[in-house]
Amino acid sequence: MTQTAKLAVLGSINADHILNLSQFPRPGETVIGKQYQVAFGGKGANQAVAAGRSGADIAFIACVGADDIGERILQQLAADRIDATPVSVIDGANTGVALIFVNREGENSIAIHAGANAALTPDVVAQHQQVIAGASALLMQLESPQESVLAAAKIARQHQTRVILNPAPAAPLSDELLGLVDMITPNETEAEMLTGIAINSDEDAARAAAVLHGKGIDQVLITLGSRGVWLSEAGKGQRIPGFRVQAVDTIAAGDTFNGALITALLEQQPMPQAVRFAHAAAAIAVTRPGAQPSVPWREEIDRFLQ
Ligand code: ADP
Repeated sequence: MTQTAKLAVLGSINADHILNLSQFPRPGETVIGKQYQVAFGGKGANQAVAAGRSGADIAFIACVGADDIGERILQQLAADRIDATPVSVIDGANTGVALIFVNREGENSIAIHAGANAALTPDVVAQHQQVIAGASALLMQLESPQESVLAAAKIARQHQTRVILNPAPAAPLSDELLGLVDMITPNETEAEMLTGIAINSDEDAARAAAVLHGKGIDQVLITLGSRGVWLSEAGKGQRIPGFRVQAVDTIAAGDTFNGALITALLEQQPMPQAVRFAHAAAAIAVTRPGAQPSVPWREEIDRFLQ
């Protein structure tokens, strides 16, 4: 088996409360839900789970509240092959929550409370300096305080740990942070937020990638949903199409793509092959409902690619 290098993921953990109903409640209205479930989510945790299940040697830096759901999430992370030692349990805070309404049309409406995720401060990041320094790569998103993402990127840069940023959810970012990123993986909305270029074609993606290279980022991968990804590195851009599948929902598609991509890259797979591996993982995820329950294990990805 290929030796995997160590991956550090820094990010959010949420408990997703998902309520299916025929239509969203209007202000002042009460509607009766049809189906209710609690699932574990948060972009950080989803990407950590995708990396763990696809075979990475991974440690996760995050925060949960001192509550029952936080405890259950920690057990689940361990079952997903993740070293959760750097997950801090924050007294007096609740584990992050996402309240998700899904209507008859499958549209969703989401409200989030950061809870313990807001306690992932630069000081907490500093406590886990060794985890970042000892890793070959650090993967982050934007559901954690931005000053903490910056602090972690600085530690990584000092120790030659590669910084991979999935800039989701979309937010403006400082040139200082972008200058510390080695690889960025925005979707179309996030790429537009960072570059001002609406992505409607491969040419748009190439122009947006050029802007991001101009900020000092070597590798740019703009995910394009069912159209795959625009990969831009070493002065060359190309679109790598995804796999055609019957999509059930695309929740956690991007998260699965990111976790699987980094896993493959840490196994020294060449970039186009790593993208193909990540496309396969994400394609499997979109054929299944929900976030973490939809994330495939390594065996499933390998079988899909046979
Ligand atoms: P996000 O979920 O962050 O918005 P995208 O929608 O761009 O990200 O999707 C990320 C990746 O998930 C794509 O590059 C592709 O590999 C996969 N994917 C997304 N939607 C589909 C789909 N309908 N069919 C197959 N693969 C998909």
